[in-house]
Amino acid sequence: MRNKILQILFNLFKINEIKLHPLNYLFWECTQRCNLCCLHCGSDCVSDAQYKDMPFEDFLNAVLPLKNMYPPDSITVVITGGEPLLRKDLPDCGKQLRKNGFRWGIVTNGYLYDNQKHTELLSSGMGAITVSLDGLEMHHNWLRCNPKSFQNAVDAIEIIATSQRLNYDIVTCVNKLNINELEEIKQLLLSKKVKNWRLFTIAPIGRAAHNPDLHLSPKELHFLLAFIAKTRNEHKINTYFSCESYLGKYERKVRDTFFFCRAGVNIASVLIDGSISACPNIDRTFSQGNIYKDNIAEIWENKFQIMRHRQWAKKGICTTCKAFQHCKGGAMHLWDKQLTSNQACIFHRMNH
Ligand code: SF4
Ligand code: SF4
Repeated sequence: MRNKILQILFNLFKINEIKLHPLNYLFWECTQRCNLCCLHCGSDCVSDAQYKDMPFEDFLNAVLPLKNMYPPDSITVVITGGEPLLRKDLPDCGKQLRKNGFRWGIVTNGYLYDNQKHTELLSSGMGAITVSLDGLEMHHNWLRCNPKSFQNAVDAIEIIATSQRLNYDIVTCVNKLNINELEEIKQLLLSKKVKNWRLFTIAPIGRAAHNPDLHLSPKELHFLLAFIAKTRNEHKINTYFSCESYLGKYERKVRDTFFFCRAGVNIASVLIDGSISACPNIDRTFSQGNIYKDNIAEIWENKFQIMRHRQWAKKGICTTCKAFQHCKGGAMHLWDKQLTSNQACIFHRMNH
């Protein structure tokens, strides 16, 4: 009963949040270059990228109009890629962002992160960092296709976790090969004094559709969510499932709040070609404009309707779903470009 009331209140909160749509996270795909070639990578990252790195001035000039809409320190620019540490000017970009009032952070595979980079980035005002750890040594290296990637990521985590000033999380892509080592990964993270651990899965769609080892079965999905719920109850490490799906009986047991896809509501992105999109995980065809011809503040204010108003999503597997009023078609990144149906809802998969 209590949960039902909380869900109703949360639905009211969502309506208001969508109306106001304050921009909190602005992802910047600053490069497509990457030093790893991960099996589950959502970006088509390559060592020899199709697009050149976006000049920082282009990005900064594009985002300055947002300062007229929001206090800049209410926006965190999340620098992503590719691998952002490959950009030599990263500390300078960060400094300029801070100078203009924005908060900033990075998403990294940790391969190049060392004490020197750590000091340099902290001095440039970096306030947040996300590092990937996708299993124990064998399975992390398998997923990341690099024999040193595990050790380098663990070294990076060690540096980051002992820093008092950083807001950080460690993310783990759970798949068939590492699902049975979650307890050991947890112990490893605890031994490194990690405070925040986020787990996510890979949807069996797109590039990942061709690798069955990446996809969890309905039984494994239940196992994963039960593991997260149990770990949260232990209160040793702040563990949570990513935002990727409505979860039925697991709602609020594996996250602090109910499901809410914030793509286009609180999250925008500037992609490598200047496209203005929502969460960088969604299909690129959902882009709403381009910084090289549009004003990002106007685009944010007036577009993104497809993500904010989801009545259209009552189709495909969502047509008869009893959770639609709470979920509204689920994660935007799971919709195909023709908007025919949500391709891989976890709630649906667990119950069919
Ligand atoms: S089937 Fe659709 S509405 Fe139902 S939980 Fe999944 S995404 Fe949400
Ligand atoms: S599109 Fe997916 S990853 Fe992005 S905010 Fe929505 S649920 Fe989260």
